[in-house]
Formats: sequence, C-alpha cells, structure tokens
Amino acid sequence: MKIITTPDPRLREKSEKVGKITPEILDVIAKMRQLSLDWEKDHPYELSAAMAAPQMGVLKRIIIIRDDMEDKKNASFTALIDPVVIKAEGKIKKDYEGCLSVPTIYGMVPRATKVRVKAKLEDGTEVRIKATDELARTLLHEIDHLNGILFIDHIRDDKDAFYEMSDSGDLVPVDYDKKIKNNQKLWGEE
Ligand SMILES: [Zn+2]
Repeated sequence: MKIITTPDPRLREKSEKVGKITPEILDVIAKMRQLSLDWEKDHPYELSAAMAAPQMGVLKRIIIIRDDMEDKKNASFTALIDPVVIKAEGKIKKDYEGCLSVPTIYGMVPRATKVRVKAKLEDGTEVRIKATDELARTLLHEIDHLNGILFIDHIRDDKDAFYEMSDSGDLVPVDYDKKIKNNQKLWGEE
C-alpha cells in the first residue's frame, strides 16, 4: 500500500462507514500509521499530522491524528473511526494546509475554529471531542477526505491562496494561472 495522490479518482469518492471494528480494520489503521511515518522520513521540513484511509485507497471512514503535532519525535497517532462533525462553530479563520495526497501544493484555507466531533476509538469506545484551532482544522480536513473533498476545493477560485514549498522549506506563492487554475493533474478532471 502507498499514499495515493491527485488525480487518483479514489480521492474523490465517499468512504463507507466501518461499523464493527474487525482485525482487518485494525490492520488498516496500523498501515496508516506506518505510511504517515514513512512519508515524513522523505519530507525533512514537514510533520505528518494526520491521514485518512482513502489516502491509501481504502474507502473506509477512518482517520488518524498525531497526538503531538509539534514534535516529530512523538510518533503516536490516535485513530478515529466513523467520525462525524456534530457542530462547526466559532470564527472562520484562514491558515496554511497541506496534504499528503496533494504533493508540493499548500493553501490558505478558511475553516471554523471550533468543532465538536464524535467517533469511535480502536477499542470501540465512543468519544466526543471538542477541538479548537489547529486540531479543529485537522479534523475538518481529514473528515473532508471521507467525503471525497480536498483542501484545494475550498480555495479553488482564490488566486492568492495557493503556495508551494521551496527547496529550503519556505512557503512561497505559486503562479495560479500557470500551475493551479487549469491543472488537470491537481483537480482530477478530464
Ligand atoms: Zn489531506
């Protein structure tokens, strides 16, 4: 298994509910953790904060979230199964997002700053999470993946919202007309 990238059509599908947590599901989660850490080894300036199962071509409603998004040495992730956004509230704020499935492109994406999410943990425990700021943004980004939505969709017509990473790890504005607007590889359209 590997991380799939645009324009792979599987990134645009709606994933299925998991329901019962079987050994196969736990195996999917283990592979997600492994792939996230493998990706990070090849990306020295970035931290692999989270991932959704469809990003490795498994169309199931599972996401993993890094327990400490600041510390690359902390390699633990919490898996959330069948996560549902109960409420998105607070202010709408723009901040940078990137995605393992959208190579090299970053965006300033508007998101709600507060969310309430319910989900199941790997052991079947039901949890309710109240998240703000970066964690809220990450949850919304990952749950979008389960519905076939990518962060770039939220900023499609905003020509000033797109960035790319330079060789030295800085985010610099990208030429929207040349590299974004009609880039079929990015949008996955004929
Ligand atoms: Zn993503």
